[in-house]
Amino acid sequence: MIPKVVFVIADGIPADVIERVATPTLDQIAAAGGYGRAYVGGPVGSQAESPTVSATGYMGLLTGTWANKHGVMENYDLSPNYAYWDIFRLAKNANPALTTALYSTWTDNRTVLLGEGLEEAGGHKLDYVVDGFEKDKSLFPDLPESERIKRIDEKVADAAAISIREQGPDLAWVYLQYTDDVGHDFGDSAEMDAAVEWVDEQVAKIWNAVESRQQSAREDWLVIVTTDHGRDEATGRDHGGQTERERTTWIVTNNQRLQPAFYTKPAIVDIYPSIADHLQLDIPETVRQGLDGSSFIAR
Ligand SMILES: [Zn+2]
Repeated sequence: MIPKVVFVIADGIPADVIERVATPTLDQIAAAGGYGRAYVGGPVGSQAESPTVSATGYMGLLTGTWANKHGVMENYDLSPNYAYWDIFRLAKNANPALTTALYSTWTDNRTVLLGEGLEEAGGHKLDYVVDGFEKDKSLFPDLPESERIKRIDEKVADAAAISIREQGPDLAWVYLQYTDDVGHDFGDSAEMDAAVEWVDEQVAKIWNAVESRQQSAREDWLVIVTTDHGRDEATGRDHGGQTERERTTWIVTNNQRLQPAFYTKPAIVDIYPSIADHLQLDIPETVRQGLDGSSFIAR
């Protein structure tokens, strides 16, 4: 069986919300593997404490390190520390024949966080890219910004599903933004619940593509769906601090080799070594020493 991975970040959905709202696709994925609460923000009060901010969270997943190492503390004016290899760089270094993909509503994920093409970030490491829609003002120009982002997320999810079906990249990242926009606009609300139901439908496109490949090809797909932070207790509009609700996230996966660590609140930084184990990537010793996480999947 050829191991493959797709991980999805659905932005800013607290664990209590994902657990309360009906999400039939996530339930299907979890039935194949598992669902567990997880956390972001690093160890509170330590050097590694990390703001519960979006780009900080993505970078924690991408590098398997907390913010004191990867250097991303906010969403703008970023200078990531590329000394901590991202998961795409690790994959390409371990096996240049592996194919990689990014389908994303935020172009900075590629150009800034991953530093795609930059020599100091490991050069070119993405084979298939779908992004840039949010910068194209000719797309859905008459819609309010959050509704634009919703349509763009739908284009991203559609493109991801087609690419997974047709190209079947070995390692892929899907990033969807809309749920966080609704959280900021409405907080805990019927609108937020509807956005979570909607994002489940976007994940369904990707899950169906994975299932169709698994039926026709000798492939063993690891699907991970997660979020980058929770939201504040009082209103559900904000995030960035270290309260329990802001720090508490969740992971849904179809993996059938989950270790007990998966069920004892893993951290976002544990996803990187878990992906590496599924793809059976060799991790150079210098990279391994920098990692803050450990795998929740048996190799
Ligand atoms: Zn976020």
